[in-house]
Amino acid sequence: MRIIFLGPPGSGKGTQAQLIVKDFDIQQLSTGDLLRANRRQETELGLEAQIFMDAGDLVPDMLVLDMVKSEFTKPELDQGYILDGFPRTCPQAEGLDKLLTSLDQKLDHVLVLEVPDDELIRRLTARRSCSECGHIYNLVFNPPKTEGICDHDGAALIHRSDDTEKTVQNRLRVYQAQTKPLISHYDKQGLIRHIDGTGNVQDIYQRITATIK
Ligand SMILES: [Zn+2]
Repeated sequence: MRIIFLGPPGSGKGTQAQLIVKDFDIQQLSTGDLLRANRRQETELGLEAQIFMDAGDLVPDMLVLDMVKSEFTKPELDQGYILDGFPRTCPQAEGLDKLLTSLDQKLDHVLVLEVPDDELIRRLTARRSCSECGHIYNLVFNPPKTEGICDHDGAALIHRSDDTEKTVQNRLRVYQAQTKPLISHYDKQGLIRHIDGTGNVQDIYQRITATIK
């Protein structure tokens, strides 16, 4: 099974992806991880990417696609995969279409996890992180035992600037702007599956499995 998983920050996409990976025995493929692995192993593609990153530039789509391609041909991915964080743009999606065609592979589903903005803002602005160990808490889902204090080391919890309402709203706007064209791209291929991302983890997961099974 080959899946692309789209969802805004705070939608719980990571948690759901982990459940799918385990149940369906497929691999999660994140281009961020792929990029880091290629740089660490100093592959030809990794070294090439490093040049762009050192210059403060984005790694070009073609280079990312080449990394994805070399990954797609590995036997570990025979059962399928979930793509996470890729494609982000229409040119990337078109590149991916060509790559899949050349490998004689087809996508099965493009999942779109949907959560209303006010709920996402509620979840994301409730994040606090430890000033010492960096552990992340959520005042709604996973609060510390003592208010404002890290369970592990007793250090003060801080509200990071990227978790404030204004920044969160901005991240959601960026997501919507990036995702809209992707949804219409895959809608033309009949692959879009909208999933209600509200409620608890198990409820959401059941909606997903009911859709992809
Ligand atoms: Zn701590």
